[in-house]
Amino acid sequence: MAEARTTATGRAAKPAAAPAAFEVPPPGKDPFDIDEVFRLLRRAVAHLPKAAMFDLRDRGYGSPFEQLVSALISARTRDETTIPVCLRLFAAARTPEAMAALPDEEIVRLLHGATFPEPKARDIRTLSASIAAAGGRVPDTAEELMTLRGVGPKIAALTLGVGFGKPAISVDIHVHRIVNRWGYAAAATPERTMQALARVLPERYWIEINERLVPFGKFVCTGECPRCGSCPLVRQCRQVGVTAPREA
Ligand code: SF4
Repeated sequence: MAEARTTATGRAAKPAAAPAAFEVPPPGKDPFDIDEVFRLLRRAVAHLPKAAMFDLRDRGYGSPFEQLVSALISARTRDETTIPVCLRLFAAARTPEAMAALPDEEIVRLLHGATFPEPKARDIRTLSASIAAAGGRVPDTAEELMTLRGVGPKIAALTLGVGFGKPAISVDIHVHRIVNRWGYAAAATPERTMQALARVLPERYWIEINERLVPFGKFVCTGECPRCGSCPLVRQCRQVGVTAPREA
């Protein structure tokens, strides 16, 4: 019997099925094998800078609260900025109680360099106060997380996946672009890509896909002129919509 699953937002998902485009590979391409794709991806990104949330986790800032705050700071902020900003903020406060006790102006000062520091500081202090009032428990469902100020589906999925280790797919612009180029999804928005992935991607890769595709998207499968000429996935990838690949 097919495994019953839910999407990253908790809705019922259809059983996994192979995308039709992969049943018969086009000339010059191999059958799409997601296990082989992840093996190749791990090797391809092994020496690249890690995605911010995973970098922070590996530095010891992997608690659900720290991941929630980091994900909020990372919105529309480059990883190279997010990491030092989070380290500076967590040097001042690492718990909901300590964060809620910081004045907004102090959080704004600590967020210097991140985008939208004032609204993000308000969101961080408000959600910290809510969590502190609930005894310090960070919600562990997407629905509950999204009741917190400033938290949307992507932040909720990162918190669940990286902070709690619960299967959740976080689709940022890199994940969205790359899986659509593969032909593994055919979706116009990151939200629809997340729903498509929840139907076809084995659950064991739900957290890892963000970890691998963020660096892969920055350095290999870039937004403009992807490096198809030297890409280890070129025989698996259907290169949907790629018109100007780089040779190397
Ligand atoms: S072959 Fe090109 S489009 Fe496909 S994953 Fe590699 S770089 Fe991206």
